[in-house]
Amino acid sequence: MELKISKKELLARVINLFLPDFFFRVFSKLSGSNGKLTVLAYHRILDFNDNFPFDIDLISATPKQFEDQLKHVSKFYNPIDIESVVECYKSNKKLPKNSVLVTFDDGFLDNYSNAFPLLKKYNVPATIFISTDYIGSDSTLWFDQLAFLILSDDLNVSEDNPLFNFINQDSAVSKRKILETCLEELKLVSNKERLNILDNLAKSNEVLIRKMPCKEFSSTLNWNQVNEMNDSLISFGSHTASHPILTRLNDDEKLLEMTSSKTVIEENLKQTIDTVAYPVGTDSAYDESVVKSTQSAGYELGFTYVSGVNDWPLDQPYKIKRLHVEQYTSTPLFKCMLSMPRIFGY
Ligand SMILES: [Zn+2]
Repeated sequence: MELKISKKELLARVINLFLPDFFFRVFSKLSGSNGKLTVLAYHRILDFNDNFPFDIDLISATPKQFEDQLKHVSKFYNPIDIESVVECYKSNKKLPKNSVLVTFDDGFLDNYSNAFPLLKKYNVPATIFISTDYIGSDSTLWFDQLAFLILSDDLNVSEDNPLFNFINQDSAVSKRKILETCLEELKLVSNKERLNILDNLAKSNEVLIRKMPCKEFSSTLNWNQVNEMNDSLISFGSHTASHPILTRLNDDEKLLEMTSSKTVIEENLKQTIDTVAYPVGTDSAYDESVVKSTQSAGYELGFTYVSGVNDWPLDQPYKIKRLHVEQYTSTPLFKCMLSMPRIFGY
């Protein structure tokens, strides 16, 4: 069997083999990330296999991987809560040394069932950015419903659906690859077009959707769980209401997504919500007009999904970068990424 190990992975393994963990702190100082704002970005924490019926790329780590990562963070870093970050930002204070902020996007149930017990065990605070339309609802996040349909053998897609040609590709193209292409396409079209395409697909697959094992694999949090976590170590921020691609909305729609999600969380948690993470969050998923809506809605900080660490004090409070944790982020790579983000971040 041919082992494909990336150069970063190989280097990370060598460093882990020959250098005791203690030296990661030294590396961190040398690389200059100490004193900066380091944010880790997760989605889901879940055990899985190749037959996983939803978007497998949203699984950031298995519970075992996540525990190894938390052990390292709690031993060598200073896990910080988001309220302290906002407070330091507003009062122009330095961040505590070696600060690391742990964040999750979307608000999947496994954040409660798998991540929360481990975060408590290692006393690591975290922030979950939730898409409020899906909290306490039976609806499946739109991209995960799309994933289920495309991965299914029984999918019906009408010829007039713009995804038809993407879906009916050569059988040599894997379904997961087709899903990736369809998701990319949906990020490019207008919001109305995206909703029409998804609606068309849902209408021709009503029976299939009823069979969707979302309770088992793709549930979102409910407000009781959100409240319980909020009472103990976990903070919440907005991930908008419906998880649109914000740059595909007009200004009024953008502002509505920003304000309505903020209000719903504030009403449920009875506290001010100061932070938002832009859905998808890559370069094309936010722009100056998104920043303007974020500011107008009253948020203090906006989080992207662009890789990197942030100079402190922040010069771009609405364009905060994060380090992505993915299921292929091995523990050696994770340790190297945290202490040497410029070399090992991706
Ligand atoms: Zn998201």
